[in-house]
Amino acid sequence: MAERILSGERRALARAITLVESGRADHRAQAVALLAEVAKAGRQALRIGLSGTPGVGKSTFIEAFGMMLTGQGLKVAVLAVDPSSARSGGSILGDKTRMERLSRDPLAFIRPSPSQTHLGGVARRTREAVALCEAAGFDVVLIETVGVGQSETLVAEMTDLFILLMAPAGGDELQGVKRGIMEMADMILVNKADGDLKPAAMRTVSDYAGALRLLRKRPYDPEGFPKALPVSALAEEGLKSAWEEMQTLAAWRRDNGFFVSNRAEQARNWFEAEVREGLLARLTRDPAIRAKMARLGAEVAGGRMAASDAAERMLRELDA
Ligand code: GDP
Repeated sequence: MAERILSGERRALARAITLVESGRADHRAQAVALLAEVAKAGRQALRIGLSGTPGVGKSTFIEAFGMMLTGQGLKVAVLAVDPSSARSGGSILGDKTRMERLSRDPLAFIRPSPSQTHLGGVARRTREAVALCEAAGFDVVLIETVGVGQSETLVAEMTDLFILLMAPAGGDELQGVKRGIMEMADMILVNKADGDLKPAAMRTVSDYAGALRLLRKRPYDPEGFPKALPVSALAEEGLKSAWEEMQTLAAWRRDNGFFVSNRAEQARNWFEAEVREGLLARLTRDPAIRAKMARLGAEVAGGRMAASDAAERMLRELDA
């Protein structure tokens, strides 16, 4: 399977992603072995995170942007991080019917987010799917997520560039974008800069550009970054400039060592997250410990015990 992935076979890639999504222990062992094997090839893609609220034009953008990239001969993979799918059981992201042209493009690979996973599971699955796409020789891996805080942080922590897609706003309102999210953004793209919306989009671009200038400049970025730019996914305008800016930023970071150190840090975080998850999983596998957890949880919920006290008791139990 590793060989087939390395030779770029899409069906093998799709099956490998299904494997890393599986909760079965024997599948897990196979997935881990497979990931170790394909990692030896040492292939890397440019990992781009893309976030935006529903309706802002993410799928339209990814389709147009992706087609532009494949038009340049680049291989593009699209993955989705959808924390809501755990609740709704369905996916609103990475849906192939939302990116019809791109999903038929032989240079593109689109994978919707799986249902029935919690955020921790989504993080692992996405990191592993990214690694598999890189091994399969993709040049760009786009990771799409909705703007709901936690998932954005998660995506920002596994990508080289993090892009916020925004809609034109009326007046000078900044659409309630949280400062933390602005700080994560390497670029803000104001979509729908076309037709009647164009003037509002251009105003919004300068509002965001102003807001970004107020944030602390990152020591590892060139002058003028992070930038705000107008795009129209529908009219396919501004996409080339956005891509050029992304490449400029990535090249600068490569030259300055930040690219490599950022990836090293992300790899370390991934490892630590896996250990944490594993520890938790191991805990809840033991029925006696599960029962104790449930008992103490009920005490806390019933107001008979303070949360911190109960946690302390639980941890003492583990030491014993
Ligand atoms: P998503 O929910 O973020 O994936 O948004 P969609 O890509 O589904 O787009 C939501 C709506 O905005 C659709 O009706 C699109 O046609 C429209 N839309 C997307 N991009 C643009 C654009 O660049 N200009 C205009 N005018 N409409 C757009």
